[in-house]
Amino acid sequence: MRALLITTLAGSSVAALAGGALGPAAPPAAAHAERATPVAEVVEDAATPPKAPGSLVAAPDLDRLPTVLQWKAVPRRCRRSRSRRCNGPRRVPEPVGKTEAFARALGLGTHQAAAEMIRTAPRWEWLDAAKRLGLRAPRLPLRWPVDEGRFGRGYGRGRAAGGPRHHRGIDFTAEVGTPVRAVADALVGYADNTVAGYGNLLVLIHGDGSVSSYAHLSAIHVFPGQVVRRGQQVAQAGTTGISRGPHLHFEWREGGEPRDPMDRFDRARWPEWMRRARPETD
Ligand SMILES: [Zn+2]
Repeated sequence: MRALLITTLAGSSVAALAGGALGPAAPPAAAHAERATPVAEVVEDAATPPKAPGSLVAAPDLDRLPTVLQWKAVPRRCRRSRSRRCNGPRRVPEPVGKTEAFARALGLGTHQAAAEMIRTAPRWEWLDAAKRLGLRAPRLPLRWPVDEGRFGRGYGRGRAAGGPRHHRGIDFTAEVGTPVRAVADALVGYADNTVAGYGNLLVLIHGDGSVSSYAHLSAIHVFPGQVVRRGQQVAQAGTTGISRGPHLHFEWREGGEPRDPMDRFDRARWPEWMRRARPETD
């Protein structure tokens, strides 16, 4: 794996690892990648012109959704009817460039990868890649994933009608299109809609192996292999998958175990929008 990730000859060759994470969404990754892999020269995607050694890397525009070059096709089963199985409408970017190759080499972005990320601890290779990209344990408290909306359902609470059901995350009701932001710096692990019920689902891997998941999205603007920054817009809230209305379903895992995300946000300082009523969501 190491040989796969870093193919360097006296600083003249390609670092697949560093280059792979430098999609359009992650201009600042170069600095981190250089620190994390000092033996490798960073080669960036064609979309991002190479920078002179030692040049300053522009700070990311956290408020701008990354541009999607091409959206993935709508799955065949969704073309005729909007059945529940279709889990859509799918609106996720088609991965491109070295980032796509990097993610593919690591096995990121697949249905299998998503199934693992939401059930068990991330693979060693994924954590190793995250560390080499300069990602560390997320800064706590986590950043709120939305700037407006309302606090919906809490962690572990059963649904009032239909009997108790464990809720493995928390819900923020938010209008379709509300910006969804990364709660901490992360490597994008999955961005698609193949996990039944979750709709368009984004899964981020943080430097210490914790994982954040963002479900029912109307659109995702980043793809596996990219590095995203705390507070960066990465998606838009929606109501895809099994959902009663527009909201963000957010999950937080440590070592593969679901945790109450509220324990990682700033409980003492709820934003004003969080204090409003709590309607039933998914
Ligand atoms: Zn939920």
